[in-house]
Amino acid sequence: MHYHAERGNEDIKKKKFMTTQNLENYWMPFTANRQFKSKPRILESANGMYYTEKGGRKILDGVAGLWCCNAGHNRPRIVEAVREQVGKLDYAPAFQMGHQKQFELAERLAGHMPGDLNKVFFTNSGSESVETALKMAIAYHRVRGEGHRTRLIGREKGYHGVNFGGMSVGGMPANRKMFGSLVAGVDHLRHTHGVEGNAYSKGQPQYGEELADDLIRMVELHDASTIAAVIVEPLAGSAGVILPPQGYLQRLRKICDEHGILLIFDEVITGFGRLGTPFAVDYFDVEPDLVTTAKGLTNGVVPMGAVFAQDFIYDAFMDGPPNAVEFFHGYTYSGNPMACATALGVLDTYEEEGLLTRASSLADYWQEKVHSLRDLEHVIDLRNLGLIAGIELRPREGAPTARAFDAFLQAYDAGLLIRTTGDIIALSPPLIIEKEHIDFAFGTLREIITNLE
Ligand code: PLP
Repeated sequence: MHYHAERGNEDIKKKKFMTTQNLENYWMPFTANRQFKSKPRILESANGMYYTEKGGRKILDGVAGLWCCNAGHNRPRIVEAVREQVGKLDYAPAFQMGHQKQFELAERLAGHMPGDLNKVFFTNSGSESVETALKMAIAYHRVRGEGHRTRLIGREKGYHGVNFGGMSVGGMPANRKMFGSLVAGVDHLRHTHGVEGNAYSKGQPQYGEELADDLIRMVELHDASTIAAVIVEPLAGSAGVILPPQGYLQRLRKICDEHGILLIFDEVITGFGRLGTPFAVDYFDVEPDLVTTAKGLTNGVVPMGAVFAQDFIYDAFMDGPPNAVEFFHGYTYSGNPMACATALGVLDTYEEEGLLTRASSLADYWQEKVHSLRDLEHVIDLRNLGLIAGIELRPREGAPTARAFDAFLQAYDAGLLIRTTGDIIALSPPLIIEKEHIDFAFGTLREIITNLE
């Protein structure tokens, strides 16, 4: 369409005065746009455990923003790190050039990750970390002469972001059905949700380890020689807090080893202290070949993700001519100075305040509070691990998801931010949470769920 310069100027001027009342131009992600715009929830500032709306009303952050603000909000070291960096080195080319903080951050991150997961590749989001890990897996097999291993295995109900690779290995139907045939050569393990006997488990559920054998079924169907990698969330968040049955992840690791399949853990939500250990890798004591992270890496302050690779994967790429690019992949903003500085400020905060393990000291109290909701009529399951809770509600007849969405709206009005997916309420507060906040959150939820239609 031809753009009329004069009219454009007028429009721009007009918009200057349109302040926040105009909600029409912004197409909001993963949001009921019309519902939101009919009754907006606009946050103005944040500090510690709380968001504040214009006018001063406070809302307790029960979900660390979106599972990312693990150190809480407006933390001095992080704010300072951003301020200092922006005035010093704003941008450095990501390809064929470097800056000091990239190397410093990678070294510190590797120090927190167990085993040989020592090589760190920077991205800008969880979705990009997933794409990167999938590409690393396929390319790894190729550089070592097994280019026929291209198949990727995900899991039903998995969430690995919204780009084509992650969407394809992901297993949430609503996220997939609109977008055509997706990436070819992908298959899915069955999920571990709703296994009989597991309802109201405290921590890891007892039943379902054998579901890992689905990978054997894949091997029998496709042949191991076609399979590059299997990707799972060690604990699935987005589909509604689905925990791995006891022994499940260990069994998956064993089957991968037997068949030369790489194991990828998507730790975008479990990374950085959520389970009471730095990573789920530590909690479950299972070492995958690749780990994807984002969110808590920068406390949500500046977009950033990171993929951790075992040394042997990196080494496999280092074989060609020394002046040749080894891995044809990367982003303009990989290892962006501001993101690196932020992540370093975040790591300082985590380390100084012991936040990467703090959840373990609150986990028992948290668990007790989660399971205190068991007597409520609408509750059909309760799940917890570390500082994560899943509260599953019975769907309203003929209107799935409506009951949980009502709970979300009512909780917000009552001063508590939660997340819902389907009819499941998820909680994942900042790791600086205190017992009085936990009491408020569960007191509020008890009242709301009791009175839900
Ligand atoms: N992987 C997992 C396990 C996630 O939970 C998420 C986001 O919630 C993603 C990937 C995608 O991350 P992003 O939204 O930063 O792209």
